Amino acid sequence: MPTKGKGLVARRNISKGERILSEKPLLISPNLSSMSVMESAIAAKLKTLSRTDQRQFLSLNNNFPGKYPFSGIMRTNAFPCGSGAVIGGVYPTICLINHSCLPNAHNNWNNELQWETIHSVDFIKAGEEITITYDHGGPSNSRQAQLKGAFGFDCSCHQCLLPPAELHDSDLRREQIQSLDDLIGEPTRIMATPDCSLKACFLMLQLLEAEFKGNAVTLIGRVYYDAFQICIIHGDQARASIFAQRATKYRVICEGEDSPETINIKSLMKTPTQHASYGASTKWRTAKGLVPKGLDPDDFENWLWREQNSM
Ligand SMILES: [Zn+2]
Repeated sequence: MPTKGKGLVARRNISKGERILSEKPLLISPNLSSMSVMESAIAAKLKTLSRTDQRQFLSLNNNFPGKYPFSGIMRTNAFPCGSGAVIGGVYPTICLINHSCLPNAHNNWNNELQWETIHSVDFIKAGEEITITYDHGGPSNSRQAQLKGAFGFDCSCHQCLLPPAELHDSDLRREQIQSLDDLIGEPTRIMATPDCSLKACFLMLQLLEAEFKGNAVTLIGRVYYDAFQICIIHGDQARASIFAQRATKYRVICEGEDSPETINIKSLMKTPTQHASYGASTKWRTAKGLVPKGLDPDDFENWLWREQNSM
């Protein structure tokens, strides 16, 4: 039976947003559908590595033992080099980090550095295990099926082992998060009924907080970026700049100031009109300087989310 692997434990207290690790890939390989072609491609690359690096590669966990050991190691351990990338990298230390469906750290491919970085998304106490997530979201049964199929292990994280009543509530929230995520990303809806899309972002933030407590940093950052896009598509520079500011704050926590994505959002925060979709509609047109001043926090949120009775 595949084991959980070795794991990585914090030796000291780590505060939220710290860069715990950054590592250069030992080996990068495309994720090829044919295992035999992939096996010989990896074998050729392995030959070019130093003895130490070869040994490190071979010491990594393999949840797919059998005819293709190198591909098995790659499949168990590789991280895509960027979101949606077809090439993946394996790392001597980062690959030891186990999965949790409620992780306390976040992994990111920094394309500028050409390194993978790991940031804490929560306060991690000395002695606590550092975890990241490999799952695609959704309720526990679909997460577990995906993890088993893609990485070959049965998830036994804290979240998956919740008592039945709590797991049921968590599954309901995860289902809602997934359907809201689909709804927010629908371009026709953003164009036709942006109020609904923005409302969905607002609901998503409440659900993420309820489900992930303080750990939803990456997802919250994404929702704020979605809200930014909804506003800028309709010409609302004032709200877009505030949403970009919040998206930046969360990106910095999980990727750092030097991440190209952080740098990009930061520049959109200063000049929201740089976004490629600016000007597609003038439905909500405002100037950047029209952010209201002196409102109490609740009134400000009402304005920001375009709640009724606001300006
Ligand atoms: Zn789990």
